[in-house]
Amino acid sequence: MYSMRVKSVMEAKKRLVAPPETTVAKAAKLMAKKNVGAVMVVKGKHLVGIFTERDVVFRVVAAGLDPAGTTIGEVMTADPVTVDPNEIFGRALLAMHDGGFRHVPVVDKGEPVGIVSSRSALDPEMEEFTAETQRRLSLR
Ligand code: AMP
Repeated sequence: MYSMRVKSVMEAKKRLVAPPETTVAKAAKLMAKKNVGAVMVVKGKHLVGIFTERDVVFRVVAAGLDPAGTTIGEVMTADPVTVDPNEIFGRALLAMHDGGFRHVPVVDKGEPVGIVSSRSALDPEMEEFTAETQRRLSLR
């Protein structure tokens, strides 16, 4: 899994982009609808930042800001660490470990084409674990 290309691990359907003018309230609704933990913030087609569920909690709610009156551009992390679709997934995981975050936008020529997260690594491992557990239980 770690030596697989990022493009074969990323889930295109988890790609959520929004402009910096989007309010936090609107972004949170989009995140809930798509069931994702991060918005890639774009100006035109270009990635300028990332806004995650952690930012909702720490930079908005805990800071006492109004989600309907705050834009994601005001509270996002600008110029996030990104990964190329042809990089190996292990490099994205290393970036998450080093940076202390759980999302890495996948960028091709400046455009965000997808996102990988720590769950991208965990979910297949858990599926394998669950399948193996079921197999062992069925042998009892
Ligand atoms: P997360 O664990 O991904 O929810 O993010 C924790 C913090 O790191 C938040 O403030 C995010 O805005 C920030 N963050 C998330 N992904 C990245 C990234 N790829 N590069 C830089 N910062 C990030």
